[in-house]
Amino acid sequence: MIKIIFFLIIVFNILFAQQTPLEKSNFTKLTSHSELSEFIREVDLTSDLLKAEILTKSPEGRELFAVYFSKGKFGEDENKIKVLIFAQQHGNEQSGKEGALLLIKELLKPENQYLFDKIDFVLVPQMNPDGSEKNQRRNGNGMDLNRNHLILTEPETQALHKIFDKYLFEVTMDVHEYWPFGEEWKKLGFRRNFDITVGAITNINISEKIRNISYQKYLPFIFNFVNEKGYTAFHYLPGGPVGVDYLRYSTFDINDGRQSFGIQNTLSFIQEGMNGEDYNTDRIERRAKSQMLGMLGLIKFSYDNKDQIKKLVAEERKKLIENKVEEKVAIQLDHFSDGNKLELKLLSYYSNKDTIVTVDDFRSVVKSIYEVERPKGYLIPKNLSELKQWMDNHNLFYTDVKLKSSDKVEQYFIDSIGTVDFERDTIVNPYVSVNEVTDKVNLSEYYFLPVKQLKNNMIVIALEPKSMLGLVTYKQFEHLLKKGEKYLIIRVID
Ligand SMILES: [Zn+2]
Repeated sequence: MIKIIFFLIIVFNILFAQQTPLEKSNFTKLTSHSELSEFIREVDLTSDLLKAEILTKSPEGRELFAVYFSKGKFGEDENKIKVLIFAQQHGNEQSGKEGALLLIKELLKPENQYLFDKIDFVLVPQMNPDGSEKNQRRNGNGMDLNRNHLILTEPETQALHKIFDKYLFEVTMDVHEYWPFGEEWKKLGFRRNFDITVGAITNINISEKIRNISYQKYLPFIFNFVNEKGYTAFHYLPGGPVGVDYLRYSTFDINDGRQSFGIQNTLSFIQEGMNGEDYNTDRIERRAKSQMLGMLGLIKFSYDNKDQIKKLVAEERKKLIENKVEEKVAIQLDHFSDGNKLELKLLSYYSNKDTIVTVDDFRSVVKSIYEVERPKGYLIPKNLSELKQWMDNHNLFYTDVKLKSSDKVEQYFIDSIGTVDFERDTIVNPYVSVNEVTDKVNLSEYYFLPVKQLKNNMIVIALEPKSMLGLVTYKQFEHLLKKGEKYLIIRVID
């Protein structure tokens, strides 16, 4: 009798489980923001496993939802591993959102609920509702959210970092799409053809152990996980086209979703599904399902490796917090070859079949080309309110200035401003000299921002004037760099 009841419950679940709006349309219509809101509110009511929260509103007033999955009170059980996935920062990459909604449904299935014995999970299915409604990359303020994680000027990225800072997730993933149909590739006769591509952290200031587990353990796992279910997956490989320009694993910039959390020694990934040729509903069922599988795989991997990941992340974060890290910080980097060519599977436009193409110029290694000595901290002028705002948005710890007699204070002078190549962009590269200034500084006019905190590396990368990833490379902060003048942010050295 009990068995029959169980059976009926399972049948009932299968027949009447919430369909996502995309499924209801039989995969013919993308989910609008109001349909997404309604779906999330419905699942919130029907299950105790999840709880929806409005994180913030977009520039045009649309809600950003986070869905918290937990058996118990979220974040309370120290033994659980905390995982964060966020999708559709780029509004014209629709399958991230659609896959995320499918994931909600998938995780509510009885056979998947065991995952939450060990995991507390937050899903932000749609980071950019304004862009999504117009099927455009940028948000309602015209900003590229995935270049905003360092300057944090937008409500969407601010809200995401706020929940990260609150729960300090050990594992994060940012979900996008790639568009392989460009004319340049077509001319060469080949294009990328993987359902999903996955990239790990590449900035070399991030813990080497965390980079290693990402490349050696997670990537092989997820490629296999997706393959077993009839989809294809490979490394995230921007650059190219093959034969024209080099391929690389990814940028080393820390202004994107993945690396901005990675730089805090988080196991952090980017997943890109293949977009539709129309940036719309073309092949949307396969796109949404493959994205969902990739996200589900990350959750299963986190479950299977919970203890190892938690231990590693805790150890590596402690080093940042106690400032027991490398003495140097790499602030200019570049991509290099390790001597190996890449055998890459591409779809041939001629045969319409996957073909192995040898990539001669594959630059798989990131190296430092300029580094600075890690200071004890920085003196931030109180009258530069945009810097105070920036520190507050990043939830940074700072104090009034109290220097020890052994502390040295040094200030850069901007002799001239040149340029440097950064992944085929030309950006500012100031030439500086350094002067010790101990007696000439009125300390009451500054805040002291110590590097001895979790965002240790991020602080140095953001504030050094010669950093190719720094604040001065953004329009909002470029005024900090003036030729023939002092650089107003001052270094404090032990
Ligand atoms: Zn994107």
